[in-house]
Amino acid sequence: MKTIGLLGGMSWESSDIYYQQLNRKIQQSYGGLHSAKVILSSVDFHEIEQLQRENRWEEAGQYLAQLAMQLELAGAEVIALCTNTMHKVAEQIESAVQVPFLHIVDATTQVIKKQNIQCVGLLGTAFTMQQDFYKARFIAQGIEVLTPTLADQMIVHDVIYQELCRGKINASSKHEYLRIIQTMLQQGAEGIILGCTEIGLLIQQQDLQVPIFDTTHIHVDALVEFSLSN
Ligand code: GLU
Repeated sequence: MKTIGLLGGMSWESSDIYYQQLNRKIQQSYGGLHSAKVILSSVDFHEIEQLQRENRWEEAGQYLAQLAMQLELAGAEVIALCTNTMHKVAEQIESAVQVPFLHIVDATTQVIKKQNIQCVGLLGTAFTMQQDFYKARFIAQGIEVLTPTLADQMIVHDVIYQELCRGKINASSKHEYLRIIQTMLQQGAEGIILGCTEIGLLIQQQDLQVPIFDTTHIHVDALVEFSLSN
């Protein structure tokens, strides 16, 4: 079994899911007392969120690249960044380490393609919904990506930072998310990407008739597969 290096804490609410699911899935695969080999580097999200807000991505990238190097030195054989948004600086991280960096969009694309879906709706932070680092990677692989209106994007964004990253789950926010999803379905989305690692706390598959692509769970599955591969 290979050792997984996680860059987490963005927010810790979702890193918690990564840790639980990695262990659960390795245990299911190997049985007995088996659990995942994980090294977690968990940041203070207050600092990262400030760098995002002040548009200091280069600095954030340097910082996360530094942590990735420490994970590699500590024995990590693969690096995963437990947030969609910070994949904006994925290249800085990837080029700082020798071991593979498992990109969350690539893992998600594979799952979407397996289901033969061509057009998806995307929910995430404003950075993720608006900027090319994320959407363009799907589009480059032939997947069309729809996003909510700007006003609805702000609702989705604020719920992530004001509620989900603070562990608050509100029925009224779920209602809003479902309304926003419905609009994208009417526009032709055949599935919905939960492109933020906390959204699964609010929206689950049983809430919708169409497939959801929860990036947290998809990322975990790809890490488990890597960890168990030869
Ligand atoms: N975890 C979130 C994501 O997947 C948002 C927090 C962040 O800005 O990193 O994008």
